[in-house]
Amino acid sequence: MRLRRQYLTQNDCYQTGRTIRVRGVMVHSTGADNPRVCRYVPGDEELGRNTAGNHWDRPGLTKCVHAFVGKFADGGIGTVQTLPWEHRGWHAGGAANNTHIGFEICEDGLDDPDYFGKVYQEAAEFTAMLCQTYGLNPLADGVVLCHAEGHARDIASNHGDVLHWFPKMGKSMDDFRADVARLLKDAQDPGEPEEPEGGDGEVTYEQWKQFMDRYRRELGQRSAPEWGQEELEQAKALGFTDGKRPQDLASRQEVASMILRAVQESGAPADNIH
Ligand SMILES: [Zn+2]
Repeated sequence: MRLRRQYLTQNDCYQTGRTIRVRGVMVHSTGADNPRVCRYVPGDEELGRNTAGNHWDRPGLTKCVHAFVGKFADGGIGTVQTLPWEHRGWHAGGAANNTHIGFEICEDGLDDPDYFGKVYQEAAEFTAMLCQTYGLNPLADGVVLCHAEGHARDIASNHGDVLHWFPKMGKSMDDFRADVARLLKDAQDPGEPEEPEGGDGEVTYEQWKQFMDRYRRELGQRSAPEWGQEELEQAKALGFTDGKRPQDLASRQEVASMILRAVQESGAPADNIH
C-alpha cells in the first residue's frame, strides 16, 4: 500500500468540520474514465498535477470523500487521503455519511484486468488498514459496503458503484470483504515463517528476523539448567531479574539494569563504579 495525504481544505465538506464515530467503510468508484488521482486532487510531483482546475479542493461542490485510489504520477497505484478519517464525509448521499469512511476508486474504461487487479488490491489493503485502526470486523454485517449495497440498505443514494465494475472483473463485494479479512488477519498474526525448501534454500532478511524471534521464544520457554536454578531463584529473590525467559538473550540495557541492581544490593553507591 502506498498512502499519501492531501486534504481538500477548500471543499465545503472539509470547512463544515463535522466528525463521526467510524463504524464502517464504503467503497465507491468514480463513474468516469480517468484513473489518475490528480483528476480529483490538486496534486504535486508524486501525485501528478491537476492542470484543469476541476479537482475537488474548491468550494461549491456537494461531495467529498476520505480518499482516492488510483494512479500516481509515475503510473504506480496509490491512495491519497483527502479528509481526516473521522471527519464526516459527503460520499453516500444518505445516513452512511454519519458512520462510514468513504473512498473512491478511480475508474478507467472498466476493461483492463491489470489496472483492476492493482486498484482492487490497493483498496483491499487500505480497507484492512482502516479496519485495523478502528477495530472493525470487515465480515460483520454492514461494516464494509459499496455504494450500491448502501442504497439497498437505505443508507445511501441510488448509485450502482461498484457493482457495475467488480463483477465484470470476476469479483463480488463478498470476495472483497473476504480479502480484507484475510489481509487483516495476516497483519494481526503473521504466523510462523515458512521453512525454506531443501537444505540450501535462501533465507530472506525478513524470514531471518522471523526465525530469530521464533528462536528467542523457544529459548525463553526452556527452563534454567540444573546447575543454574538455585542462582536464578536467588537472583529473583534479590530482584535482579524477574526470572522469566531464563534462557533467552539479555540485551545490554537488561545487563546494565542487573548490574546496577546488584551493586545497589551490595551497598556500594552506584556512582562509585568506574
Ligand atoms: Zn458512489
